[in-house]
Amino acid sequence: MELVQSGTTLPAIDPAWVARVQSHPTVLRQIAAAVGGPFHVMCPDHFTHNLQSFIGAMAAAGVDGKIYFGKKANKARCWPQACAHADSGVDVASAPELVDALANGIRGGDLVVTGPAKSTELLWLAARHNALIAIDSLDELERLIALPRAGGRVRILLRVLPPANPTSRFGLTDEELRRALHRCVELRERIDMDGFSFHLTGYDVSPRAWQAGDLVDRCVQARQMGLAATSICIGGGFAVNYVTADDWGSFLANYDDSWFHTRKTFRGFYPYHQDPAGAAMLSAILSSPVAPGPGDIAAKLTETRTRLLLEPGRALLDGCGFTVFPVLGYKARPDYGFITVNGLSLSLSEQWFDSEFLPDPALWPPLAASDPVSPVRACVGGSSCLETDMLTWRLVALPREPRHGDLLIYPNTAGYQMDSNESEFHQLPVPKKVAVSIDDGDIRWYLL
Ligand SMILES: *Cc1c(COP(=O)(O)O)cnc(C)c1O
Repeated sequence: MELVQSGTTLPAIDPAWVARVQSHPTVLRQIAAAVGGPFHVMCPDHFTHNLQSFIGAMAAAGVDGKIYFGKKANKARCWPQACAHADSGVDVASAPELVDALANGIRGGDLVVTGPAKSTELLWLAARHNALIAIDSLDELERLIALPRAGGRVRILLRVLPPANPTSRFGLTDEELRRALHRCVELRERIDMDGFSFHLTGYDVSPRAWQAGDLVDRCVQARQMGLAATSICIGGGFAVNYVTADDWGSFLANYDDSWFHTRKTFRGFYPYHQDPAGAAMLSAILSSPVAPGPGDIAAKLTETRTRLLLEPGRALLDGCGFTVFPVLGYKARPDYGFITVNGLSLSLSEQWFDSEFLPDPALWPPLAASDPVSPVRACVGGSSCLETDMLTWRLVALPREPRHGDLLIYPNTAGYQMDSNESEFHQLPVPKKVAVSIDDGDIRWYLL
């Protein structure tokens, strides 16, 4: 019987540092012994590499601007630290996120504060620290202005309700924008109106390009009203390629419920392959034609001297981390096996959204050349008492039976999978975080 049907494997695209760490004979074993439970491994240098490719895409298009890391995608302190070293900023949406960014070297002026109906504490801290505040409603603008001792001037963007997503609960309608602009003019002794922002769900280039062009037009009009309107912010939502186009295409083409424990069905899956992705997607936005032409978005920005701000979260974390769950046990059943790991499905966020994180987990230590290959198919359960606590419902192919003491590695988890929805269910501690750097061929690791 062929255990692995075609289309059921989704090997992750791993950057070089991951292969270095996972092929090292002892490093993962040492970390596992030190932390005594599940853990996340991250590589700040790879984050810097991703950040530089976004900065490079802007420079190549001749566009001036700034990148703000969308902090909600991962809580580790190494990312804002890397942003600080690169003179980039951070996008925060809560007072604790703001404080954490400051504590890790981000200056207040390099913060953008997003999110709906912000708390008074968040608005006040943002104003005190001279952060850029994306205003999401008229009453929020009034609450900001009314804050006692908020500092001298406040810096704001006006968040626009995008026509591409007219039912969104975020952003201001045209009528609200008209009134907000009027208030900005009245209050120009107090407010620096720096421009407009949007954030779109989905990963399409064209609605972003269209909306960017529209925001530049809005800036030009706002300048005629005497406002600064120097910048547009196009949010995040830059795609990530977890697997190759071929693997993803064949997975979708052959998809079958029988690939999953209990034939479980899902509401849908994240698109694990997309084109263009990451900084290439930014380049595609910038080289999109403007309507009416001639020229592209990059030219429109430079001709109007408009700065481009962006807030990538997931894309900056692409390839920046993986998650390791120690194997507690394995049960062989006639059709397929059950792996139980030390950890919870609540650490892999997709399960919260009636979905599944699909890139293949890998068994460590890997099969040695001399080991016999005896493949199994197995699903992966967490160490709780819930039938539904499954990290992976899919029956994934492994080259041998897992054993207690092995490690099960989930690839490319830094963007949203690690800590956005984790839980201390059963009083189990959440996974520890470890950062690695590779210096002169040596792998160094430290607890975060
Ligand atoms: C979540 C969010 C981001 C980051 O989105 P990614 O898809 O991770 O790039 C950026 N801006 C805003 C306003 C957000 O809510």
